[in-house]
Amino acid sequence: MSIFTKIINGEIPCYKICEDKDFIAFLDINPNAKGHTLCVPKEEISYIFDMDDAQYLKLMQFSKRVALALQQVVPCKRIGVAVVGLEVPHTHVHLIPISEMSEMTFQQKVQMTDEEFKELAAKVHQAFIALPSAN
Ligand code: AMP
Repeated sequence: MSIFTKIINGEIPCYKICEDKDFIAFLDINPNAKGHTLCVPKEEISYIFDMDDAQYLKLMQFSKRVALALQQVVPCKRIGVAVVGLEVPHTHVHLIPISEMSEMTFQQKVQMTDEEFKELAAKVHQAFIALPSAN
């Protein structure tokens, strides 16, 4: 069972932004930049390109909405998108609020306190639930 399945099952905590029937979004605990978020399908599929087209497109649609919420809350130039999966073999889309290319390299990390993570997740959650229903 992947660490993300344990999060989905509520066995380990996360700084949750939102979830629906099929997907969950939570803050990365070792962020490249403030607001670095992971969008994860609840089904434990290791490799993104093993998803069928419908699942893949739904994951991207979900990730887009999370990105729209993130960009309202976190000052940045863009929300960078990456899929890596070398550490956790459970598909996830990294959404990273970036102002510099170096923030996409996964070499540079920012430190955040538990309080900061909680506060940020709550703000992005509020922005997410306030999004218009279609974009
Ligand atoms: P990768 O599989 O290479 O895309 O990297 C996995 C990402 O998951 C890394 O950015 C980790 O910091 C992040 N990560 C690992 N465990 C957790 C966790 N329990 N909660 C949030 N993020 C995590």
